[in-house]
Amino acid sequence: MGWLGLDDTDTLSEGCTTFSLHLLISKLPEHVDVGEVRLVRLWPFARQRTRGNAAVAVELTTENEHDLLRFLESYWNNELQALAGAVVLDEHNQREQSPADPGMVWFSESPPPSNFYQKAVSSEVKMKDVPKADASWGGMGIIGATAAVLWPQNDVTWEAIGWREQHRWPSVERCVCESALAEVASIDGTFLTRDPRTQRSLISPRGTCPVLFGVRGRTIQAAQQAASMLVEAKSTERVLAWRVFATNQATDDHLGMTHTGRVEQVEVLGRGTSVITTEHGRWMAFAESGNVKRMAQTLQPGDVIEALGLAPELGVLHIEKMRVKHRVTQKKRPLCEACQRTMKSMGSGQGVRCPVCKQRQSIGWVELQPHLDLGWVQPPPDARRHLAKPLEWYLNKTPSDTHNG
Ligand SMILES: [Zn+2]
Repeated sequence: MGWLGLDDTDTLSEGCTTFSLHLLISKLPEHVDVGEVRLVRLWPFARQRTRGNAAVAVELTTENEHDLLRFLESYWNNELQALAGAVVLDEHNQREQSPADPGMVWFSESPPPSNFYQKAVSSEVKMKDVPKADASWGGMGIIGATAAVLWPQNDVTWEAIGWREQHRWPSVERCVCESALAEVASIDGTFLTRDPRTQRSLISPRGTCPVLFGVRGRTIQAAQQAASMLVEAKSTERVLAWRVFATNQATDDHLGMTHTGRVEQVEVLGRGTSVITTEHGRWMAFAESGNVKRMAQTLQPGDVIEALGLAPELGVLHIEKMRVKHRVTQKKRPLCEACQRTMKSMGSGQGVRCPVCKQRQSIGWVELQPHLDLGWVQPPPDARRHLAKPLEWYLNKTPSDTHNG
């Protein structure tokens, strides 16, 4: 039994890495048995990143490894190598990504335990750090392909991916039955199916690619049942094929320890993006981050916050989860009861006086009501990373219990 990994086969016309793997599997020699298929999300800031930073892998069993390797060699040369150098326009950001540099690896045995996956999901890794496979083909894609094979599956979720017929790929419209989707959302164990606030579907990608839907489950059964219901619904467009992938989505595998910092200042930029300056650098709460950004905007110098997120560069944290550990008491000068004007200090220990009617009082400060303690907050479902684990899943624990080692 061995594992095949594949990455960076995205191009605009050829689709995405999950479909490349599906095609490869469908052409395997008859003597090869197909086991688990995997979709593994990796470090989102990788310099050469594929769309969604996804790599894939599949477990293969055969009595004739020699023939399998001959097949892989020929499949690589004829089908995958040609994708190298293709440039994809990222539809979300309207910017060009790096040219595709596909990679494929083969491990004959179950690979030995290694921390390579953990490095590849939480930091930038280099080619020289990649554990050696029994056979490998291609370029930078070898990094993701190897990480997908070496994923230790400490935490697993599932995604059933359905691909549409080829003539539909150029279209950004996708027909998935609305009422089947509503039923799927109510299956115990599916998640991130619809946005709970807007009821908008979260299962279909935007843009032109082979994927019709990717429906997520906390169990393989939930994902299978959901995909069957969607595919069989009359008003869902024809599906070429679908498969259930084991994934590291919604595991928080990319996050390390929680960060604690004291707020020095908060600057609010366009669309509410907030930059919190702490003694550890600039912590970013982005415009799309909902409650995270709203919480950031209530912070005052001296407040102590705890956060989880990724640091794409030293001294910068992109906040994914946050809470306030301690708020400083906010004080202000009292209002004059008669004029409703803010009273002014008459000097240390001298009390305050109304600037209009000159009324005096000895109590110089009033304390402001503290902001409601919301506990941990996270962005809304459609603004989270694929890797982000919903706060609700921490149950009786909190991110502080879980990420402090
Ligand atoms: Zn007054």
